[in-house]
Amino acid sequence: MSGKRLLGALEGGGTKMVCAIGYDDGTILKRESIPTSTPEETLPKLARFFQKEGVAALGIGSFGPVDLREDSDTYGYITATPKLSWVDTPFLPVLRDALNVPVGFETDVNMAAIGEHILGAGRSMSSIVYLTVGTGVGAGIIIDDKPLHGLVHPEMGHLLLQPAPGETCPDGFCPYHKGCLEGLACGPSIEKRWGKPAGELPPDHPAWALEAEYLAQCCSNVVFALSPERIILGGGVMRQSHLFAIIRKRTLDLLGGYIRSDRILENIDNYIVPPGLGEDSGIAGGLILASRQLGR
Ligand code: ADP
Ligand code: ZN
Repeated sequence: MSGKRLLGALEGGGTKMVCAIGYDDGTILKRESIPTSTPEETLPKLARFFQKEGVAALGIGSFGPVDLREDSDTYGYITATPKLSWVDTPFLPVLRDALNVPVGFETDVNMAAIGEHILGAGRSMSSIVYLTVGTGVGAGIIIDDKPLHGLVHPEMGHLLLQPAPGETCPDGFCPYHKGCLEGLACGPSIEKRWGKPAGELPPDHPAWALEAEYLAQCCSNVVFALSPERIILGGGVMRQSHLFAIIRKRTLDLLGGYIRSDRILENIDNYIVPPGLGEDSGIAGGLILASRQLGR
């Protein structure tokens, strides 16, 4: 571990890049948000922020898709993103060359999962899933204490779901798939379906029964596929905290009594939970990712 060496964390989103400095115990000393315009404009600003602060290592979590294979020629690149000016952008190489310090690279959601795993709601557990329901839907997965990469990386936001009872829009709004989780349940999908921003729909609006159904289908699929010790649900849409109770109950229904763990069956309130670090999961994860580069 890095002791008290100053570290950098960069949460790279499609609309803004959050840069922060701090320590690997989660202390955040300073944070700055830089708009995501073009790589030519944005990358030098990011480099300048961290150069000025003099960090010993940096952890980046990026929107994707990204290349996470360390033996690849395009390791640390953003690859085929719908954000066209960022297609094939060498995100990690540019910052590593500018800063000349070790740089760790992850998906944005895996970085948040690392934060939750070490310092948040997943502390002392070895396998967790962190799902964010916001502008998109994505999941960071820690299995046996390691972030899961797989062949490319998992894209749990595009799980294909069954239409909820009463569904009038079963295709949803994903340009790639009919009936996927993100297309049915992310913030912009809710807004397209109901003609109003998700945050303006009252708690008794029918939107939330559908939303909870889809998130419960996701949670039960997560249990079947990955068997994590805890599922953490974050992101802007989960500010609707009344969703938790409905999701928990419906997840139990969908599991159908097949998975016999008391940690789920008797303790669902502690199995599907909000993030322990609130909005800081990603930045905390970035600081930890940075400190892990010093230990390599
Ligand atoms: P991002 O996914 O871009 O990192 P957020 O996690 O904040 O950002 O998610 C933004 C989305 O969350 C928007 O689509 C917005 O409609 C939705 N959202 C924000 N606040 C609320 C709220 N209180 N209730 C429901 N949805 C919300
Ligand atoms: Zn999709």
